[in-house]
Amino acid sequence: MRSPDIAILGGGIGGLATAAFLHRAGLPCTVYEQASELKELGAGLVVAPNAARLLRRLGVLDVFLRRAVELEVGWEFRRWEDGTILSAENLTTECVRLYGEQTYTAHRADLLDVIKSAVPDGTVRLGRRAVELRHDGDRPVLLFEDGERVEPDVLIGADGVHSVVRRSLAGSAPARVSGLSAFRALVPAERAPSFARRPAQTLWIGPDHHLVHYPISAGAFVNLVAVAPAGEYSVESWTATATVEELLTEFDGWDPRLRALIRAAGVPGRWALLDRLPLRQWSRGTVTLLGDAAHPMFPFFGQGAAQAIEDAAVLAGCLAEDVTDPARALRRYEQLRLPRTTRLQEVSHGRSHINHLPDGPDQEARDKSFTEADPLVANGWIYGYDPEVEMSA
Ligand SMILES: Cc1cc2nc3c(=O)[nH]c(=O)nc-3n(C[C@H](O)[C@H](O)[C@H](O)COP(=O)(O)OP(=O)(O)OC[C@H]3O[C@@H](n4cnc5c(N)ncnc54)[C@H](O)[C@@H]3O)c2cc1C
Repeated sequence: MRSPDIAILGGGIGGLATAAFLHRAGLPCTVYEQASELKELGAGLVVAPNAARLLRRLGVLDVFLRRAVELEVGWEFRRWEDGTILSAENLTTECVRLYGEQTYTAHRADLLDVIKSAVPDGTVRLGRRAVELRHDGDRPVLLFEDGERVEPDVLIGADGVHSVVRRSLAGSAPARVSGLSAFRALVPAERAPSFARRPAQTLWIGPDHHLVHYPISAGAFVNLVAVAPAGEYSVESWTATATVEELLTEFDGWDPRLRALIRAAGVPGRWALLDRLPLRQWSRGTVTLLGDAAHPMFPFFGQGAAQAIEDAAVLAGCLAEDVTDPARALRRYEQLRLPRTTRLQEVSHGRSHINHLPDGPDQEARDKSFTEADPLVANGWIYGYDPEVEMSA
């Protein structure tokens, strides 16, 4: 039986994870990536148990662990003005007991690198920027900047938040300004205060702002992500930058220890958080979407990359089980994945309001509820997910 000719547009975390899971399922593919090398920007991310489970399945978790940080404390909420700890979760034993995997933090480049190690040589074609997707009857036709034309049996759009494939499937509905923007920065560990070097994910929350930090790169750096009002700022790009002074201004009056951490940061990146409503449909015929191209989400649950990796595992499983009818396989993939990612888009969106309450009765009620809540258990629907179990249900 002939394997379908599968093309993946985009060699980010989602696209490469798809190539890796397809390879594991015995299906070859080609990844087309616009950049001249596979790289990620200088920033960290949380790898929750649902993502760690899939790295283990790809056989790359051991290598990943050499470069990651295993968190001992998670969801450590601190009050903005004096750092009072409102609640904290012990991850050392509980995470494995509940979900069979730990929670890690890592540099994005390290995560991309270990996923890439599970992709056979020759799979990725670099410097290939697609400009348009057309349909020739049932067949997708992908056009590249230099005039190259590719006509695969199956096309997977893993081309991120500004996806060309999404535009062709769902139109170019403009994103709405959310009024928020995210700053991200790295602090070399030797310049970071000791509280920020602990293997802990700490969230400082206060009026209209919050800031998350955790160590990455086997402890060599501390990663900061701050969310603040966007004002006039509307650039949605991983490469746009701000200044440490601008970031400090946002956290004027906050605990001096947090301000000292910000002062030690390298040049921050800044990213306007734009709102996109969840799509009702991702697939048409043998074309589908995956990762941020399908379901861009606010970073407040640290699940964007994890969801892209889950998509990859489910999509590869569906295609492997139905090689003779890829369109049916893509419909099944969408049915399995769309409700979950829609829910994550929605809860991630709602979180900004809770994190940013001004001081007052609502904030006091929230802080009290933190002491009673157990995010590790409450988010069980996120961390306990196993694509293979889901597919066999
Ligand atoms: C501030 C912030 C913090 C975050 N923190 C976390 C976290 O802690 N944990 C987590 O799981 N997620 C986190 N995320 C989300 C996560 O980064 C994304 O969801 C994830 O990177 C999406 O991967 P992707 O492969 O779908 O898209 P991308 O990483 O955007 O990759 C898309 C790829 O496609 C390529 N491409 C694009 N257009 C074309 C074209 N026309 N032709 C050819 N190639 C093309 C790009 O060059 C790129 O390589 C965070 C996001 C932000 C903004």
